[in-house]
Parts: sequence; C-alpha cells; structure tokens
Amino acid sequence: MSAAAPAPEDRPEAPGEPPTGGGLEWINRFAALPDAFHHRPDPAPFPGAQLLASSPAMRERLSLTPDDLAAEPWLGMITRGEPVAGTPQVASVYAGHQFGVYVPQLGDGRAKLLGEVRTPAGEHWELQSKGSGPTAFSRHADGRAVLRSSIREYLVSEHMAAMGIPTTRAVALYGSSLRVFRERIESGAVVLRAAPSFLRFGHFEYFHYAGYPERLRQLIDYALDHDFPEHREAEDPVRAMLETVTARTAELMADWQAVGFCHGVMNTDNMSLTGLTIDYGPFAFMDAYDPDYICNHTDQGGRYAFARQPGVALWNLTRLAETLVAHFNAPDVDTAVEQAKSVLEAFQGQFRAAWLRRMRAKLGLQLEREEDESLVQELLARMAAEGIDYTRLFRQLPELEDGGTRQGFIEELEDPQAWQAWEERYRERLAQESRPTPERHAAMRAVNPKYVLRNHLAQTAIERAEDGDFSELERLQRVLSRPFDEQPEAEDLAELPPAWASGIQLSCSS
Ligand code: AMP
Ligand code: MG
Repeated sequence: MSAAAPAPEDRPEAPGEPPTGGGLEWINRFAALPDAFHHRPDPAPFPGAQLLASSPAMRERLSLTPDDLAAEPWLGMITRGEPVAGTPQVASVYAGHQFGVYVPQLGDGRAKLLGEVRTPAGEHWELQSKGSGPTAFSRHADGRAVLRSSIREYLVSEHMAAMGIPTTRAVALYGSSLRVFRERIESGAVVLRAAPSFLRFGHFEYFHYAGYPERLRQLIDYALDHDFPEHREAEDPVRAMLETVTARTAELMADWQAVGFCHGVMNTDNMSLTGLTIDYGPFAFMDAYDPDYICNHTDQGGRYAFARQPGVALWNLTRLAETLVAHFNAPDVDTAVEQAKSVLEAFQGQFRAAWLRRMRAKLGLQLEREEDESLVQELLARMAAEGIDYTRLFRQLPELEDGGTRQGFIEELEDPQAWQAWEERYRERLAQESRPTPERHAAMRAVNPKYVLRNHLAQTAIERAEDGDFSELERLQRVLSRPFDEQPEAEDLAELPPAWASGIQLSCSS
C-alpha cells in the first residue's frame, strides 16, 4: 500500500502550519495507515519547557534553528504533543519478546510520532518525541522520561552517528519543571528523535500473534514501500526484505562489538527493521574488556551480556522471520520455511565477516590472512585476563609499537610474557603489510575512537545538568561528535574511568 503524501495544497493553511525553516514538507505516511495501527493521544502539559540542547548536525539536515526549536509551534508539538499542522500525532501499537517472553501488546507508551518530513535535500525523516505524556499504550506507566535517561539518549544517538554506526538520531533535548517519580523524584524531559523509520520487529509480531493476517500484510506492504522500495520488484519481495534486515543487523552487531557497545535491552520491540540502534536505556560502552559484561542491572541472567549480542540478534531475527514466512512467494509452506531458514543461516557468516573486517581495520591490517581471527581472539583474551580498557588499548596500539610507551604498559601487566608473545605475533603479521607506518597509524586512528560515551562521563554531565549547569553536556556533545579526532583540550574525557564509575548501576527504569 502506498499511502499517498498529501499535496501541499491539500494541507491545512496557517495558523496550523508549522514554520519549516528551509521548507520541510510533511508527508506522514505512517499516520495515513488505518486506525488499527495507531492511536491518537491527547496533548499533555509540560510545564517550564526549556530547550536544553540541540544537535547541530540534525538541525542542519532538517533546516531548523535553535530559535525554531525553542519557540511555538515546535515547542508545543514536541513537548506537549500538540497537533502538527492540524494533524494529530500518533502512537503506534507493537508487541515483543521481552527477555524471551512474548508480551502481546506493548506500543509507544511514551513516544509520539509527530509525522514524517521530506527535507529540501530530499531526505525523509520521521520525527518522534519521547516523554511527552501518556498514550493508549502506556499501561500503568506515566508516559514520561527523566532528564537522566534523556541526556543519555540524546548524547549517545549523535555520538553513535558520528562513529558511523546506524542509529536513530536526536535532534533536541528539553527539560521541564515536571516532577517524575522513579526510585527518586526526578525532572521530566523530552527528546525529539528522528529516523528514516521507527518500525520494530515487534510491529510485525503484534499483527502476527494477534491473528490479523490482513493487517500484517498491510504492514508488510507499508514497510516495502516505505523502507525497502528496492525490493518491490524482487522475485520474492518479502524474502528479499528479510535478507536485507538480516544482513543489516549482522553489520550493526559487528559495529557494536567493534566499539565495545552493550545495548542492554535487546528485546524484539527494541530491534529496528531498518538496522538502526534504537531505544537507548541501560546501554554502556565497556571500560575494561569483559565478554561477560552485563550493562543492565535488571538483566541478572546476562541474557544481553556483551558477547551474547550477535546471538540474541539472530534469535530476534528468527522471531521476525516467523511473522513473515507466510508472506513469501513460495509454492508451499515447507518451501517458505526452508527459504527463511537459509536466510537466517547466512547471519553467522555475515556477522563474522563484518566483525573481522572491523577488527582487522582496528589492528591496521589491510591484507586478509587466515591467522587474523586467532590474532584478534588472542588479543581479546589477553585484554580480558588483564582487565585492559577496551577503547584505550586500541587507540594506543600505534604508540605501543614504540619501545618507551610499551615498557611502561608491560610493567603493569600480570602476565607480561603472554602479552609479549602476542606482540611478537602482531609484529610478524604487520611485517606482511606494505602500507607505510604513518599511513597505517592514521588509518587506525580513524577507526579506533579516542572518545566514547563512558558511563561516568554521562553521569557527570547528568549531575551538573540536574543542578542547572549544562556546560558539561554541551562539551561532551561537542567532543563526542568528533570521536576519532585528537582534541587536546578534552584529554580528561579520554582517561581511564575513576574508581566510582564501577558503582554506577543502570536499569530499565528511565
Ligand atoms: P523500553 O524497555 O523502554 O523499550 O520499554 C518497553 C515498553 O514500555 C514500551 O512499550 C514503552 O513504550 C513502555 N514504557 C517504558 N517506560 C514507559 C513510561 N514511563 N511510560 C509509558 N510507557 C513506558
Ligand atoms: Mg523500547
């Protein structure tokens, strides 16, 4: 189904018309789907609304100025959920497997889709506010987000994008005088986020398990038109879509593993159909390397531990495939199931190849050699055994080739001999490469970030912001938007975490 974009002349005239800066065109394809797909929540108050920060990169793409974002009508649309150009916002219905258990109805409990815009450059973005009040899917919760978690989502979205990792984006962050009750009283906040698509695996699960095959078909057609138009003419469009989702998810998992990112809540409702990182909650960048690292305090069994993420992604893809398989163009069900299995079977190989590509680049290796995977695995094993900081080690590899720095490093180790044995292997492997050393080092710095949003950095910015000082938030945003560049004035943000960092506890409560 192609929900036709209303022509500009069909849309309501001012005063409902939002100012568009450089000329945003509202097309709202998701909202044009029938009512079974979404609900129209009422606006809700957001007292003391204040624009706290906005992303220069996203402002430019959307042709919005800080003044636009700080004033009506944008302020009301974003923080109070008021209609956009006379059109109500929508909250979508979805379901999902949470920690392995199917929950038949979830949905946007605190997110509202303002609509979809086409920018002057021809880009399509869906705009969503998070925290602007309850919806029909809030269940017993308040539809709010606290400043703490909103700062984290705002910072990390733009930081991930700056590292080239697919993600939903954050356009702006708003604070308020609203009191929100969590483990303690906190203040309410709203993030304006943007993505080409906010579809989740859980959207498909909802219609599949609720027994609405026609609605599911409609959703699939919508996804094909909206997100995978290139597969419309494929021999089997739905199978082609599953192939693309699988391949993109494999790449995304390789991205996460390569930078040491732990998502924390990889439920199927938090998996993006278009392969974006979505729904930042108790996420973390690892400090000391630990494959068993669990960033979500609520995840006691470690279902979403760092090293398990690719396997969980495949499990989630399997849940998605179960909803799609009946819509393959196969002669019979058995054939369709076999085809779906073979799509999913490709995941491990795709992930491994994507991961190895990134790890080779991190080590400065251009050639592909059989021994490379074990070279990487041995390095990771050494890092785990010694509790070495993941981000800093990769960033410092070029310096460790230099005798002086290396000596200091080695003196700190429990098992210097094992490290030296690895170094010897690495040196021999580097000898096979032909790239001049300065060039290799520059290439390594372009893939090994100097700055990542470690928990304690976010925590410091949050505590200052809760006291009304937003300078650290601004500084972090600025530095993390150039994560690969040396920024001498921000050397403190690249240091090892302080001792108190290990006491930070992150849970789903946000
Ligand atoms: P999450 O774990 O944040 O991805 O959320 C899981 C589900 O709970 C989603 O349906 C959310 O919309 C909903 N949810 C989480 N927090 C709230 C809240 N404060 N108010 C309403 N719904 C929420
Ligand atoms: Mg979620």
